[in-house]
Amino acid sequence: MDYDTYGSNAVELAIDLANADRDAPDWVQVFLVAHQEWFTTGTALELGPTEATAVGQTSSLVRDVAEADSEPEVMARLNGLLALASPKPYATDHDGELHLHYARPDAGVVEQLTTTVAMGLSQVVVQHGWQRLGVCSAEGCGHVYVDTSRNASRRYCSNTCASRSTVAAYRARQRT
Ligand SMILES: [Zn+2]
Ligand SMILES: [Zn+2]
Repeated sequence: MDYDTYGSNAVELAIDLANADRDAPDWVQVFLVAHQEWFTTGTALELGPTEATAVGQTSSLVRDVAEADSEPEVMARLNGLLALASPKPYATDHDGELHLHYARPDAGVVEQLTTTVAMGLSQVVVQHGWQRLGVCSAEGCGHVYVDTSRNASRRYCSNTCASRSTVAAYRARQRT
């Protein structure tokens, strides 16, 4: 499986957005600054309350897609997210490698973000299957992830969560 494309990188942006700590003050600002390489140079990253709410909505929609557990449900939720996207793809080599960008370069940051995230997520779902997005099974984690394993067998967001769960299961067995 080739995840070496912009589409798959865009899914990482989607995953990061869904996993952002939305209880933190100014989380939208923090998220945008941390991911500013995704936006056209010079894009204003300071948002008003309405735009910040829209970013939160996109975050929720990504999580909804990951939490869906059937193909029709994934499709319905994905299409809900895609309805908010305004794709205007263009080819670029701004980083030295030819690849596609999905949003208008002069769009506001919310449009760039939502469009990139929606297109990245859709590419993974339609090319690799709706089961590729999931929610971490580790107790108390709740992070969403994209499963890049060969047989789509992943259950945890990270190796940390996987080993934490293995240890917890082992201890539980020891107790009984
Ligand atoms: Zn690029
Ligand atoms: Zn986890």
